[in-house]
Amino acid sequence: MPHVRVAVLLIFASVSLYGQPRAERALSASVSKERLLRTVRDLVWFGPRTGGTKSGNRAVQYLVDRFKEAGYTPEVVEDPEVLTFSILKWSLRVEEPRSLRRLIKNAWLGGFSPSVGKTRAPLRLMADQEDTRRNLVDSGAVLLDEPPDRRTYEKLVQVGASCILVISPKLEGAYSKWAMISDLRRSAENPIPMFNLSYDNGVRLKEALRDSQEVVISFSAQTLIARGVPKTVIATLAGDSSAYFLVCAHGDADSGGPGADDNASGVSGVLEIARTLGALVGSKVIPRPKFTIQFAVWGTEVHSTEHYVKSRANDLEQILGVLNIDEIGTGATRDCLYFESNDIEHNEKLLRTLEAVGEEYAGRKGFWAESTTNPSQGGTDSYVFLPNYLRYLKIPEVEIPSVTIYTAAWNELKRLQQTEGWTSKAWKGHPDSVYIDYSAYYHSSLDIPAMTTEREPYNMVGAAKAVGISLLRLAW
Ligand SMILES: [Zn+2]
Repeated sequence: MPHVRVAVLLIFASVSLYGQPRAERALSASVSKERLLRTVRDLVWFGPRTGGTKSGNRAVQYLVDRFKEAGYTPEVVEDPEVLTFSILKWSLRVEEPRSLRRLIKNAWLGGFSPSVGKTRAPLRLMADQEDTRRNLVDSGAVLLDEPPDRRTYEKLVQVGASCILVISPKLEGAYSKWAMISDLRRSAENPIPMFNLSYDNGVRLKEALRDSQEVVISFSAQTLIARGVPKTVIATLAGDSSAYFLVCAHGDADSGGPGADDNASGVSGVLEIARTLGALVGSKVIPRPKFTIQFAVWGTEVHSTEHYVKSRANDLEQILGVLNIDEIGTGATRDCLYFESNDIEHNEKLLRTLEAVGEEYAGRKGFWAESTTNPSQGGTDSYVFLPNYLRYLKIPEVEIPSVTIYTAAWNELKRLQQTEGWTSKAWKGHPDSVYIDYSAYYHSSLDIPAMTTEREPYNMVGAAKAVGISLLRLAW
């Protein structure tokens, strides 16, 4: 029966030992951990990459160069102008008592803090934000348990406070030794700066004040608050059809901090997928895709995405699906890939593809341990393409499948009720619940490569492979 043998051989030629189709195997083999890690390190080196700032523009030039290196002709789109904030230099330390001089570590200057020269000020405790009597403040620095709302900030300014220190919240695993970053109102007119402290540092200062010790701090800030134009980088892998899948990530650290996980990891993932798919097509391992694939790195989260959607309002039917990548660099409690949102009906087809890839590869060497879809949580670029946001943008009804791929969200573990019919075979927990893993470094001063991507490189590698393999199934 020679023809049977030929058929068997043919099957073996296109399917690997583990039942992995040849193209998917080639893609998995060419995803490079080293390149993913290097891209994150390079991006974080530029600073927070805020859209429209010097740091943001340097990241844009870097991305243009990397896309060109990968054989693309990237386009840079200018998004609407925004008020931007850049940190040039700052200092904060305890002067008295001398025993606490080296106390403050991993603090961070709050966004939209003004420039102030070096200032010495007694520190006052203000647990109750209503307690703003002048005799308590009197040109002192004020220690608060949480970021001030606008009213409290204005009151503190009125009674003569010179600076605000905010203690990070007490969360299991996060912010004990590093600061959660919070910002002042987006304005060039804020009169006094705000610094974010780790929880432990804040508690130590409180103790000293409660022991009636006099605490004197010194601080300075040199910042730049100016209007700027965020820039979005777009690269295209042409297919037979101009209808396209959009693979994207926000390029800025929206916290204003280092943003290794949020979201240099996502940008690195987009670039790696573009590189590997481009190389496979270029070397004719696979043909050119049936559908076009567009890669986008947004200048500013949501703001740039909104501009993209508005500027293509009459062309949105061309988008077959959006795969947004946000925070794929870490995960505090699980090795899980998440695909959101399964409660949007028209996401079904796209999500079933991701889910199938997630289930087939879970537990294999070089892939993830778990994967699942989950309901909407909001707060990232995929939502700009979904019905609520489109309605807000007054864009006529158009159904764009739009999902986010990630390995961690927020700063603490969250339990969500799983959407009916979406229990993943690759989920190890209770079938009705999804535990959303978190980042201990979420929006913090220590969201740096050493704490996130370098520690757990397998997150980025897995996410890049999952999205790449899904695209092979969707666009070819
Ligand atoms: Zn993000």
